[in-house]
Amino acid sequence: MGTSDQTQRNLEFDVVGLDLDGTLYPVGSEINNIIREEMCRRLSEVIGVTAEYTRKLFETHYAQIGSGSKTIATIAENHGHKIDAVELAQRSLEEADILEFINPNPELREMLERLRGRYQIDLVTGSGRVLTSQKLERLGIPKDIFGHVLCKEDGNKLDGSIYQRWLGLRSVSPERVLYVGDGIKRDIRPCRDLGIKTCYVKGESDESDYWVNRILELEGLLL
Ligand SMILES: [Mg+2]
Repeated sequence: MGTSDQTQRNLEFDVVGLDLDGTLYPVGSEINNIIREEMCRRLSEVIGVTAEYTRKLFETHYAQIGSGSKTIATIAENHGHKIDAVELAQRSLEEADILEFINPNPELREMLERLRGRYQIDLVTGSGRVLTSQKLERLGIPKDIFGHVLCKEDGNKLDGSIYQRWLGLRSVSPERVLYVGDGIKRDIRPCRDLGIKTCYVKGESDESDYWVNRILELEGLLL
C-alpha cells in the first residue's frame, strides 16, 4: 500500500468510486480460461475464421509468445487486422459468463459498509447492467451499498464518458473524488485526465496517485 509520491498524503475525498471486474473480485485461472474462450470468439469474428480454429491458433502462438493480449494482436496482424488486444481482453472479462467462479466475500462487504460511513461510494463498471447485478449478488454485496451504479450502458471507460457522467451525477470537484481500479488504460488514465484521484489495486504503479496490493487494503488507506 502506498502513494506514488510517498511524502504526499492528502486523503480528503468525498466520493470513492470502485471498478468491479478484477477489483472487487480476483481473476483466477478458471476465469482466465473462460475469458480466453471469449477473446477467441471475438477475434474469430474479426479475422473471419471459426472460434475453434482461432482457439487452436491461440494455443500455438501463446506457447511461444506467453502473453494473451500479445497473442491476440499477433494473430490479428497475421490476418491483416490491427486491433487493440488489451481492450479486447478487458471487454471479454467484463462480458464473459464467469458468474460461477465469483464467490461471496463477507470481508469486502463489511469493509464497504465501514467506508460508507465516511464516504459516498459508487460503482463504475464496464460490465453491462444485468451482469453487474448478478456479479454483485454472487459477491454477496447488496447493490444499495452504492449511491450510484454506472454500467456499460451509461458510457465508455476508454474515452472517459462514463467518468464524466459520474462526476455530473455527484456534482463535486474531481479532486474530491477517488477511483479505485485494476486497469491502467480503462480506469487510471481516463480518470487522471479528468482530474479524479486514482488508486491502482494490483500493486505499485507510477501512473496512479495511490496503490494497494489488494482491495481489502483500501481501508488502511482511507480510514
Ligand atoms: Mg477491472
